[in-house]
Amino acid sequence: MKTPEIIVSGKSNGEGIVLRYRTARGTDIFGLAVPNIYSNTEWDLGPTWCYLIAGRETSLIDTGRFGNYAVLESMLRSTGKVFSDIDRIILTHSHEDHDGNLAEILPSIKGEIWAHSIYRQMISYHPDIKDGARHPELPGSCRHCIMPEKFRSSTCVQYHQRRSLVDIDFAIDSDQRRPGDSLSFMFTPGHSPDAICVVFEGEVIFTGDTLLPGITPHPTLSGAFEANRRILPDSYSYENTVYGLINYIKSLDKLAGLTPQPTAIFPGHRLFYNDGFNLIHSLYGRAGEIIRFHIDRCRDILRIIDAKPAGLDGIAFQHFPASSLVGAGKSMARDEVMAHVEVMEKCGDVCWIGENRDIVQSTGSNNFLNVIGAYLQDKGK
Ligand SMILES: [Zn+2]
Repeated sequence: MKTPEIIVSGKSNGEGIVLRYRTARGTDIFGLAVPNIYSNTEWDLGPTWCYLIAGRETSLIDTGRFGNYAVLESMLRSTGKVFSDIDRIILTHSHEDHDGNLAEILPSIKGEIWAHSIYRQMISYHPDIKDGARHPELPGSCRHCIMPEKFRSSTCVQYHQRRSLVDIDFAIDSDQRRPGDSLSFMFTPGHSPDAICVVFEGEVIFTGDTLLPGITPHPTLSGAFEANRRILPDSYSYENTVYGLINYIKSLDKLAGLTPQPTAIFPGHRLFYNDGFNLIHSLYGRAGEIIRFHIDRCRDILRIIDAKPAGLDGIAFQHFPASSLVGAGKSMARDEVMAHVEVMEKCGDVCWIGENRDIVQSTGSNNFLNVIGAYLQDKGK
């Protein structure tokens, strides 16, 4: 893709940057890098990139992390727009670094809010449905929150409560295009059960967290399906098609199969990092790289437990560098290992042993290579 033009400069990780990209049909797209709390930590995602499509209609994709209303407003002004110019806000998924500020913007918006149909269930509370959820008292998006208690601050609670009051005007269901519209949607669950990618004029795709340069998003756990199936819309509650690593890989495969392939790829994080652009030049190629990354991670987990069966923490300790295992990184690493173990267990490559069934042992097979590999096919080298 051609390099976007920086119209407001920012920090070396991109924070504060406003950029402009002009499509072949002459529509201006602005990227707004809103500060993110994880910046400058071991699990640094960099800022959240929100995008403004300044076409015949004005669409804002994602609203950044909670607490950045004023930042978003001033970034928007640098594009020549104000909140009341926005015809619609589209949310890529229900994570706080992507739909923060939404509740605060709403009073100034005349336009509509669009999100996947599962999004409604993610922002609302379902305290009566416990079903083994780690935190049934939190909204749908956080019933499986892995963050240690100290990370669940009062701002978090405030954000959830305000967000739960938001009304969705248009619920996107599966892959969808509205007649005559230059926007279409791809349902890409896995990192979040309600994740969507937004395609514009066939040339541009906004990938949210589903496809990022340089890093891979955390997959959800397929185990979260049982805890959440009764909060999902009926059509998603029979069979798990929205949680876990394998569903995430299916979403990557779907992106790789999109025809025509968009040539301008705008991710939710890391578009600019370490003082330079991190442009993704091929949707298909990057999807293949990420699938290969997960194959390698499974392979390494098998190598570790082949030497000696281990629990999730023990595997994480051997698989990740020590610098990733500080603070919340420890629970993230553990869940990341679990997401891979779930797939390999389903494939018959590992089983749980020990008195508490908390030790992972390999069975000697590596069927995962065929199961995940089937989605790799010939996605580049
Ligand atoms: Zn994110």
